[in-house]
Amino acid sequence: MSTECLQLPLEGSDWSILEAEIDRLTGNVFDGFRGRLGSQCLRGPDDVQEIAHRAYDKFFHENGILSGRIPELGRIEKQVQDMCVSIFGAGPEGACNLTCGGSESNFSGLHAAREWAREVYPDISEPEFIIPRSAHPTFTKSGHYLGMKITRIPVANNYRADSSAMRNAITENTIGIAGSAPCWPYGLFDPIDELSEIAKDRNLWLHVDACVGGYLAPFVKKAGYDVPDFDFKLPGVQSIAADLHKYGFVAKPCSSILWRHRDLQKYHYFPFDDWPAGSYMTEGFTGSRPAAAIYSAWAVLQYLGEEGYCRIAKSIMETKAELDRGIAAIDGLKPWDNDLSFVCFEAVDIDIGKISAGMGARNWFLFGVREPQMILIPVDPVESMVVDKFLDDLKEVVAAVQAGEVTDSTSLDYT
Ligand SMILES: *Cc1c(COP(=O)(O)O)cnc(C)c1O
Repeated sequence: MSTECLQLPLEGSDWSILEAEIDRLTGNVFDGFRGRLGSQCLRGPDDVQEIAHRAYDKFFHENGILSGRIPELGRIEKQVQDMCVSIFGAGPEGACNLTCGGSESNFSGLHAAREWAREVYPDISEPEFIIPRSAHPTFTKSGHYLGMKITRIPVANNYRADSSAMRNAITENTIGIAGSAPCWPYGLFDPIDELSEIAKDRNLWLHVDACVGGYLAPFVKKAGYDVPDFDFKLPGVQSIAADLHKYGFVAKPCSSILWRHRDLQKYHYFPFDDWPAGSYMTEGFTGSRPAAAIYSAWAVLQYLGEEGYCRIAKSIMETKAELDRGIAAIDGLKPWDNDLSFVCFEAVDIDIGKISAGMGARNWFLFGVREPQMILIPVDPVESMVVDKFLDDLKEVVAAVQAGEVTDSTSLDYT
């Protein structure tokens, strides 16, 4: 089998042949623990994955587009939505839609804000959102699709959103602002409380991107750690994006968009009735979607409950502290603190891309940050089992880079 310009084969093959070929092509690096650390898989502990898997497999072929037509599926989805609402402090008026990922959830927040503004600010024809520079690229991508201007404001010296600069940047076309809880590049929460005040003062929509941390932060807080406020307890927050398929440990693709009030959810939907096949309305932008991910979400949320998520949150924070301590003890590295579960470190007087390359050669996948140059690891619970091995490898790789023995340098770009 050639990997170049592979064409549809004339005849099929048996699974045993295909599996062997897949293993050959992937080098089998995904088997076992090596290569898992930091790779944004966020699988959670093995028992949780077993549940996610079982529920997913049971409904592998079902199409979530029919959740409005198939009562059993609709009921399950409603229960997942209700459980999600209960996590973010909206009270009984809150509402939720499930989406196929953080990109779609952020898109949904901005789309609803635009529809809301068409009613509230009918004179604005070129709507604009103001966001911190550290906010996820999906904001600008969504603005591109929605015909909305997205203005990124440099972060403050502490790398969090500069709320006064954001306030000063508001124009007569501004319909909303956004912040992250936390942002991806730094694992830091923007001052959502300050953004909430701005949103209240100026009657703007405030969307919070809690994609990565949304299903972790509330439980880290309940486990006794300090976590900044970011949810609907803050009166200006209108929508929150939070990924079940990240720290919710649910099978991909599964995310949620939460609405402060049901009345805001109406701006989300796009009902269409002028079609030969009849009326058409979906839960989000995506049409066909795996119902299996919804069943998997239901099963994992029920399996863990608040107690389970708190237990995992605590273990993640302990693993992070262990990694931070180990990194601080390595000559040439400088750990960077943040609010949640990320381990970030800078390199002193050496090319950090070479550390990434050296670790890559040992099958560790590491994310980078360009401003400032850092390596970033979103800690996954399974990593408590590989901390020692990781730190040993890191120490050896840093020494090798210092000795000039590593010549390759990996780019710090996300994709
Ligand atoms: C992952 C992430 C997203 C995008 O989510 P996808 O599920 O990759 O579409 C948005 N914002 C933040 C902060 C993220 O970490």
